[in-house]
This record gives sequence, C-alpha cells and structure tokens, in this order.
Amino acid sequence: MRKKIVGANWKMNLSRLEAESLYHKISILGEANTHVDLVVFPPQPFLGLLSRSSGVALGAQNVYGPEFFGAYTGETSLQHLMDLHIQHVIIGHSERRMYFNEHSDFIDSKAIAALNAGFQVFFCCGESMEIRENGAATSWVQAQLTSLFEQMDPTMCSALVIAYEPIWAIGTGKVPSLDEITAMHGFIRGLCEQHFESPFSDAIRIIYGGSCTADNAGAMAQLPNVDGFLVGGASLSYSSMEEIIASV
Ligand code: PEP
Repeated sequence: MRKKIVGANWKMNLSRLEAESLYHKISILGEANTHVDLVVFPPQPFLGLLSRSSGVALGAQNVYGPEFFGAYTGETSLQHLMDLHIQHVIIGHSERRMYFNEHSDFIDSKAIAALNAGFQVFFCCGESMEIRENGAATSWVQAQLTSLFEQMDPTMCSALVIAYEPIWAIGTGKVPSLDEITAMHGFIRGLCEQHFESPFSDAIRIIYGGSCTADNAGAMAQLPNVDGFLVGGASLSYSSMEEIIASV
C-alpha cells in the first residue's frame, strides 16, 4: 500500500500574512492526518520564513539544477533549498513548460539533479486538449516519462511522485472523467513497471492534478492508482484542503 500524498501548490498567490496563517492552519490539519503525506509549496520568497516555524513539509515550486552555485540570475538552487531543510520540489509543471519555455531535456536534468541530491520530486506530465482530441494523450505522457525514467537509477523511485496534470484541466474547472483518469493512471503505472522492477516501481506514487476540489476529490481518491493530488486553486482555501485531505 502506498501512502497517499497531497501537495498544495500555492503558485504566485497570497500575501506574507495570508501565507503564514494558511500554513499554520494546514500544519494543524497535517498533524491530525498523519496517514497522508502533506507538502505545501508556497511562493519561493516565503520558503525561508515558513521554514522557521514547525509545520507540515514545505517544498519549492521550481528549482535550478544541477549546479549548486553560479551566475544564474533569479534562480534558486538545490543547495539553497537544502540550507532551508527543504526536501521536496515540483519539476516540469506545465506553467513552467508553457510560460518559461522549459523543455523536456532541461526539465529531466533538473529532476535527475534533485533526485541525486536526495529530494522528493513531484514530476508533472500531461497533455493539452489538442493532443487528447488527436488520440495522442498516452503517447505524449509516455514520451515525457520515458526520457526521465531512462536517466533514473531504480533506487530513485521511492522519491518520485508523478503528477498527472492534463493541461486543459489546470485552473479551468474541467476535469477528466473518472474513466479517463483510471485509464491514464493505469497506463502510467504500467510504464513504471516496464522500466523498473518491483519493488522499485511499486514505490512510485502517481497523483492527479487539475481542478481538484473538495467536491470531486472524494470520487477520484477511490480510483485505482490515484495516490493523492496536486492541488492548485483549491489549496488556497483551508476548508477545501480540509475536505480534500479527509477524502484521501
Ligand atoms: C496545478 O497547477 O498544479 C493545479 C493542479 O492547479 P489547479 O488545481 O488550480 O487546477
């Protein structure tokens, strides 16, 4: 049985005071629900601040790798995160791929650097609506994951969380049907098994992201191979998080 995991991706939202208050409340929720791993991904400038108080695990929404120091204006390195005892990072979010032109090779190199440095990596994959309508969703996701898997040592599997996030579902209020989620998560599980032997492949957690809310999380959480959620918009609301956590 894989332990369920929920990530709260706050993106570029919340003031400092709002972030402190929500982190405090979510931390109490985390303490009361130890059967679920909970990771909060605040805006990067608040990581240092929040890491000074005790609470649920914190993660970075992005990181630069593999260099630990250097002339990379505006970037945060794995070493900076390690200095703050941050051990979780989102890599390959579709917003990074789309708005900041991060391409697969770069994303893979960051993920491998983070895994090598002992981080837990939330690796995002997922197709656009156009790709889905062309019947190419699985081959797209397969390509995104295969290039990463080929560079991974099997011992890295337990630190990998694959976030299946169809781009058309992110922030839109649209979600795939339960059958579509079942099919894609089953397909991803099959890929994990093709690339890594048991028990390595079994340790990879596959979570769903894209307009996950208090209303739809319960049904999705029951599906096979759904090991949790990466939550964007709804993670800004304490009551939504409370219900999503309860549903897993
Ligand atoms: C995300 O961006 O990772 C995400 C899941 O966003 P939302 O829940 O807002 O669709």
